[in-house]
Amino acid sequence: MRHGPWQERRFECVDGPVKKVLPGAACKRRLGQAHERPRAPRRPGTKRRDSRMMEAIWAGAPVSLPGSRFQFLSIESDPPMPSPSSFLREAIEMAVQNVTTGQGGPFAALVVRDGEIVGRGTNVVTTLNDPTAHAEVTAIRRACDALDDFELAGCTLYATCEPCPMCLGAAYWARLDRVYYAATQEDAAEAGFDDHHIYEEMAKPPTERQIPMDQALSEEANRPFEAWLDYEDRVAY
Ligand SMILES: [Zn+2]
Repeated sequence: MRHGPWQERRFECVDGPVKKVLPGAACKRRLGQAHERPRAPRRPGTKRRDSRMMEAIWAGAPVSLPGSRFQFLSIESDPPMPSPSSFLREAIEMAVQNVTTGQGGPFAALVVRDGEIVGRGTNVVTTLNDPTAHAEVTAIRRACDALDDFELAGCTLYATCEPCPMCLGAAYWARLDRVYYAATQEDAAEAGFDDHHIYEEMAKPPTERQIPMDQALSEEANRPFEAWLDYEDRVAY
């Protein structure tokens, strides 16, 4: 699916004698293409507006329809963004394809900025032998690569499933604006992907976790931080 750029211009009709603003109407066109005719309020018996009026609307100028008491006031507006559902549907289709082509687990994700997909990812854990190759991480990596940035502020993540703790952390590190997901943790657990225990582990003190975590060398541990703080050309993130 391609979400190409397009322009929209709304306009209102002002009834001259009674100064009543009629409900706004809209016309839209894809960039580089001929415009569509407007879906404007039309009085019974009148003909379609001529192209000169359309050109005036696109030029942003108020225009009167010949022989009409209505005046059309052009209003610039932002084009509506594709809905979250449309991106989630695309991700779900990617996830299904990922399974049926043997690429990996039933997960996919998209990173979107300003209505444009800037990163796509599917779960490729088993094909890459990479336990971190979850769909969200893959999509975030590709988006960062495409945008040549280590932050994704202004971007939204669309995931077919509620992110696991690793991917949730990745979303925060990437400074994503927002996350939409379709299936829940519980849905994933029913399919054999239960990450609830990881959330539970995170809430425990390190020494009480299933994977033992022990601290050592606390005296020398700050050397990397000292090096970082001393390094004048460091790139903060
Ligand atoms: Zn994950």
